[in-house]
Amino acid sequence: MRQLLIAGNWKMNGTKPEVRRLISGILSRMDESRSAEVLVLPPFPYLPLVGSMLEGTPLQLGAQDLSVHESGAYTGEVSGAMLADWECGYVLVGHSERRSLHGETDATVAAKFKAAQAAGLMPILCVGETLEQRERGETDAVIRAQVRAILDTAGIGAMARAVIAYEPVWAIGTGLTANPDQAQAVHAAIREQLSAHDDTIAGRVRILYGGSVKPDNAADLFAREDIDGGLIGGASLQSDSFMAIYEAS
Ligand code: PEP
Repeated sequence: MRQLLIAGNWKMNGTKPEVRRLISGILSRMDESRSAEVLVLPPFPYLPLVGSMLEGTPLQLGAQDLSVHESGAYTGEVSGAMLADWECGYVLVGHSERRSLHGETDATVAAKFKAAQAAGLMPILCVGETLEQRERGETDAVIRAQVRAILDTAGIGAMARAVIAYEPVWAIGTGLTANPDQAQAVHAAIREQLSAHDDTIAGRVRILYGGSVKPDNAADLFAREDIDGGLIGGASLQSDSFMAIYEAS
């Protein structure tokens, strides 16, 4: 049985008062009788503040990106060890905004995936196709190649310490959502790809769906067999909508 994960990607949003309000709102609705794990991914400068607020609570902390390097002359970069120092357990790698706006290739994403694990962090590997790729019938091939890039570099064993997030690029921040059948089909294909290497690991890895998840579509998505939670952008910026999604899990 895979534990559902509800992760909030704040992107480049927030101020200190907003962060305090958001975390207080989340904590006030965390319910220990629910089995889903809840994770927030704030911008780097807010990690210490959020970390201090969630101490002693079940809320988990993670970051949105990390450097491929361990330390040194890399101005502006943040290493996996620094994130671990601030009690992060998770880090996104390969978010489509990093791929498209910052030119991250599959090779960069694979290097970040390895750097995250070397620092003891759980990478959340984001994969997804563009609208043009979907319309050309290339969804399967695109996702396969993105997953293969990690398998070729890190090996199937590394997937035992990772989460995958399927995020169709056309659904991120657009209000369009893959319907549960479309999402389930891609999730099942990812699991099948992994199971060709290791059935047990394939059965255990959590595959999240991301792309305009909202309180009114979350339950239908999370009910599908291979959808193990959500990576939530816009709706994670308000505790009411984020926790309504959690409560749909
Ligand atoms: C995301 O940024 O990962 C995301 C899924 O955003 P949104 O929920 O706003 O589509």
